[in-house]
Amino acid sequence: MSLTINLRHLETRNINLRGELSLADLDLDVRDDLIRVTTPVEYDIEIEKLDDAILVQGELRVELECECVRCLKKFARGLDLQNWTLHLPLAGEDAVSVENDCVDLTPFVREDILLEFPQHPLCRPDCGGLKQASVGKARKTVGKDESKPSAWAELNKLKL
Ligand SMILES: [Zn+2]
Repeated sequence: MSLTINLRHLETRNINLRGELSLADLDLDVRDDLIRVTTPVEYDIEIEKLDDAILVQGELRVELECECVRCLKKFARGLDLQNWTLHLPLAGEDAVSVENDCVDLTPFVREDILLEFPQHPLCRPDCGGLKQASVGKARKTVGKDESKPSAWAELNKLKL
């Protein structure tokens, strides 16, 4: 099922939608060999009808499998759009297309997920990559790195 909203249902009250948009429905055109989407997109959104527009606010979540641009290692990364907002005009030049009172949000989800893709995926911010690892200087640190995912430690600090 694609993510559609019925405008008639919006006339009296806001709609809350929660669910998943399958990979088939999302149909991402990923022109990037380094990134794959591995899970459906989870959405948790509230839709509100304004005078001549629809306002969508909420959260989108999806898991990516990335390949590090430096060391070519595969790693998983969650993509979390916590304050996802869409303002869709119902009138004027930029008006969103309405079919049988329904608006399909899928293209907007697709577009915004693609925009959030990491441009240069790195397994960790300080990844030394393949080249540096073969240089003598790096010898000291080789072997330590695998057991200490420093990026996660940093993340944990941030959560406090
Ligand atoms: Zn790497």
